[in-house]
Amino acid sequence: MSAPLRLSGVIPESIVDGPGMRYVVFVQGCPHHCPGCHNPQTHDFKGGYDGDIQAIVNQIKGDPLLSGVTFSGGEPFCQAGALCQLAEKVKALGKNIVVYSGYTLGQLKELGKKDPDILQLLRLADTLIDGPYVEAKRDLTLQYRGSSNQRIINLKEEDL
Ligand code: SF4
Repeated sequence: MSAPLRLSGVIPESIVDGPGMRYVVFVQGCPHHCPGCHNPQTHDFKGGYDGDIQAIVNQIKGDPLLSGVTFSGGEPFCQAGALCQLAEKVKALGKNIVVYSGYTLGQLKELGKKDPDILQLLRLADTLIDGPYVEAKRDLTLQYRGSSNQRIINLKEEDL
């Protein structure tokens, strides 16, 4: 029995959520409630709809323009188990994975001690964009990020 994936929505082609053309999966549910969040409709864990992992994979498979897939939200690491299932299929297609989180990498490593799916998702992904959105550090010039505290981390260089 696979873990359910609760979604807010998907964007089949985006050029603003990581390098190249990307399929973006917005998960539903976020515990962070960052003031000024641009996606407040994704906060309610009871909102959204049940995603179909295989249908998403089929869409990705059918688009040769895609260089990768981005997991955004919402908080992707609140659904790490389901996203690991999707991530494994995405990697099998030869696509790279960017994952956003309102947690820092350090916090995710701590959470990963109790939830192995969190560590597994970090291992499957290529890039993490970490940390909450901080309104006081908002910077529209930053690539792929909303505020300057957020970091673009190459997970392949991390000891996970
Ligand atoms: S982590 Fe992201 S989705 Fe969640 S409240 Fe912060 S900016 Fe919004």
